[in-house]
Amino acid sequence: VLAAFEAIAPLAQAFAQLGHSLAAGERLFSIIDTAPAVSDPEQPAPIPATRSLELTFEDVTFRYEEEGRQVTLANISFHVPAGARVAIVGPSGAGKSTLLRLAMRFWDPQEGRILLAGQDIRSFALADLRSLMGVVTQDTYLFNDTIRGNLRLAAPSATEGQLWRALELAQLDDFVRQLPAGLDTWIGEQGLKLSGGERQRLAIARALLKDAPLLLLDEVTANLDRLTEQALFEALDMLMQGRTTLLVTHRLLHMERMDEILVVDGGRIVERGRHEQLLALGGLYRRLWEVQNALLPVA
Ligand code: ADP
Ligand code: MG
Repeated sequence: VLAAFEAIAPLAQAFAQLGHSLAAGERLFSIIDTAPAVSDPEQPAPIPATRSLELTFEDVTFRYEEEGRQVTLANISFHVPAGARVAIVGPSGAGKSTLLRLAMRFWDPQEGRILLAGQDIRSFALADLRSLMGVVTQDTYLFNDTIRGNLRLAAPSATEGQLWRALELAQLDDFVRQLPAGLDTWIGEQGLKLSGGERQRLAIARALLKDAPLLLLDEVTANLDRLTEQALFEALDMLMQGRTTLLVTHRLLHMERMDEILVVDGGRIVERGRHEQLLALGGLYRRLWEVQNALLPVA
């Protein structure tokens, strides 16, 4: 059950079993509180037998408050073919994280549908749906446990070899190897403090071990220095190989490796296309790109 999903309900059980700090526990429950917004269907559909999953948003409109007039996402339509990479970019507050959370079914949209392998995600049991997803976000949940324990959360039956292979792909193997206790090093509040980049690499290793066909990434490289960001992206690239990926970011890093980029502003898709096309368009994407690369004319 712990392996089913890393960001909501199963963590309540992990919390109970592993004994977590109060501060982190409160944060977990503040997320869990949002879960009752959705429920399982009475007759859940079987999960798709194939590993090649396509993800489709069909005219999705969502507001956080039923009564409120403010729409957080309006008429969002896009398609991520099986194994393809789509990036959601745009300024802060645009609705990028909300879009990703709708795919995870934290909430259901008021209008439109989200389809996985051609089936409405509401037709699956939540645990089944989330078992298909590897999720890495800006806040990585690590437990007061060993590195091994934190990795096993994603894959309880992983062999020693598989753990090291995942660490290697996440470019964390050298770091772990030089620790006196190696995989048995305790991390978290009472243990070794990891840097932001190390935490994110551990989260990537965990997602690799989970080996889910659909990958949802939210600002994975945020708050890291440029060098760490660059190295982490290479690890991310490994993770994305052969997986249907939705990558949310405000940082336009390696966007040329994306199959399609959706530029979201004020809850709407305002531009879409490949990196070169969007640069040539000379709109919002171009402006964001220029600001980040400091290519603005002086005058
Ligand atoms: P982004 O990830 O692009 O920065 P978000 O999806 O986090 O944007 O937020 C989009 C809008 O929705 C913002 O105005 C934000 O304040 C609002 N919002 C985000 N989360 C919630 C929530 N849980 N309840 C109500 N409003 C929210
Ligand atoms: Mg966000």
